[in-house]
Amino acid sequence: MSIPKTFIYCPKCSARALKPSSPKSIVCSECGFEYFFNPAAAVAGLIANDAGQLLVTVRAADPGKGSWDLPGGFIDPGETAEHALAREIFEELNLDVASMDYFGSAPNEYTYKGVTYSTLDMAFICHVADFSMMKALDDIEQAIFLPPESIDLDHFAFPSIRTFVERFIAAKREDS
Ligand SMILES: [Zn+2]
Repeated sequence: MSIPKTFIYCPKCSARALKPSSPKSIVCSECGFEYFFNPAAAVAGLIANDAGQLLVTVRAADPGKGSWDLPGGFIDPGETAEHALAREIFEELNLDVASMDYFGSAPNEYTYKGVTYSTLDMAFICHVADFSMMKALDDIEQAIFLPPESIDLDHFAFPSIRTFVERFIAAKREDS
């Protein structure tokens, strides 16, 4: 279900009087409260080792349990995209990011407990100097390095992540 349809009562005055005011907002006809369903900002990291293999994670939880992903997650309020990604990579993989470069963005939909949220995923190329302390933690079942040419894009849970990996593989091919 889309988010606007999951809201029945006004969160401010409790009236059952919410109506769409645009494709991405609802307004309460009793008290005038208006809410905008802006996309949630999220980040993803493209990390390669010295051999040029891409670090791919296996998701331990739904949505997409068992499917492939890139490390990353949602940006907390007040946080920069770069800080959020470094934090997520440390929480999920116990890795320190030395530096990162912006790669691009792609919209995505994220269904959690029956409600579909819009997100904007931003990808960064992340440079990691030392992988010796790498562990699969948090919501990651496993972390694997894959040669770009052997990556099956259909294994990724989300279209935005698939797009990033596809662009990453194409850029690698142009380099070599
Ligand atoms: Zn109201």
